[in-house]
Amino acid sequence: MQIVTGKTDSVPASVAATADWQQALKSAVREPDELIDRLQLPARYLAPARQAAREFPVFAPLDFIRRMEPGNPHDPLLRQVLPLDLELSPGEKDRKDPLEEASAIQTPGLLQKYAGRALLIAAGACAIHCRYCFRRHFPYQEAPRSLAAWQPALQMLADDPSLDEVLLSGGDPLTLVDSQLGALMSQIAGIEHICRLRIHTRLPIVIPERVTDELLANLKGNRLTMFVVVHANHPAEIDDRVGVGLRRLLDQGITVLNQAVLLKGVNDSLDALVGLSRQLINLGVVPYYLHQLDHVAGASHFEVPVSQGRQLVKTMREHLPGYAVPRYVVEKPGGSSKEVIS
Ligand code: SF4
Repeated sequence: MQIVTGKTDSVPASVAATADWQQALKSAVREPDELIDRLQLPARYLAPARQAAREFPVFAPLDFIRRMEPGNPHDPLLRQVLPLDLELSPGEKDRKDPLEEASAIQTPGLLQKYAGRALLIAAGACAIHCRYCFRRHFPYQEAPRSLAAWQPALQMLADDPSLDEVLLSGGDPLTLVDSQLGALMSQIAGIEHICRLRIHTRLPIVIPERVTDELLANLKGNRLTMFVVVHANHPAEIDDRVGVGLRRLLDQGITVLNQAVLLKGVNDSLDALVGLSRQLINLGVVPYYLHQLDHVAGASHFEVPVSQGRQLVKTMREHLPGYAVPRYVVEKPGGSSKEVIS
């Protein structure tokens, strides 16, 4: 990955923007001690956080941390990134690969779970480590890391005319620099039967500077119909700067959807879910999915019972227009689609 360092007054604005988001990645908090110190949390959080972080390291951009309330260990944004002792006692149903994605790998970096669509693991890195992530144990080191290494996956896409949509996922595909992302997107656009490209990313939420002019040019610069699926779980994640970045995507005519995960201690309340939907629709972003938590090892403490989730979504309908209520879904290993719960 190309790293741009430093920033001077003489560099063009677009290069400065690239430097900004890459600098934000470089300066992200990686140590549980620093996270706990910055949030002024009691010392009792230290030992379990250090232990749980050995399994899945801490990674939290400063910009995201600034949106948390210091001194509050229950802050809904902090809960998403703080390793807890609860991670150390996995539940009975927990799995390292809860969706059995290993069996969906067609060739390194290419997964096909559903008809007509295929998913490229475009990057192994993320801009944040979400403790509940269903891919927290994914073998990213086996996925391709360069355009040359993606060729077998791209060839498989080209050889299968039943596919008309490609998802870029990861990790987070927007951790790729724009030149690399643009080259990959151009190759996909060169496959005649692919009509749509969907990018699953949390970067516009956690580091809004990632919505650079180059990124917008890449997204608009080929014939594919483009969807960007962002991931925010709580209204406090969407501040003014995030709103500006999302609007920049929307202003290009790109469809922007949000998916959230229903998480105990984060958004398992009517206020949080309704607030999130309102924030999204006020910007023009569609609340698309609310996922039931996958049974990934180390995250069972985030689980909200389905009966409670169903009730929450039912009540959301009494407070929001229909288009603002996300589909509440669960993914089952080997299923031919996601299952709609409500
Ligand atoms: S950004 Fe997405 S892929 Fe990365 S850790 Fe969070 S949920 Fe997982």
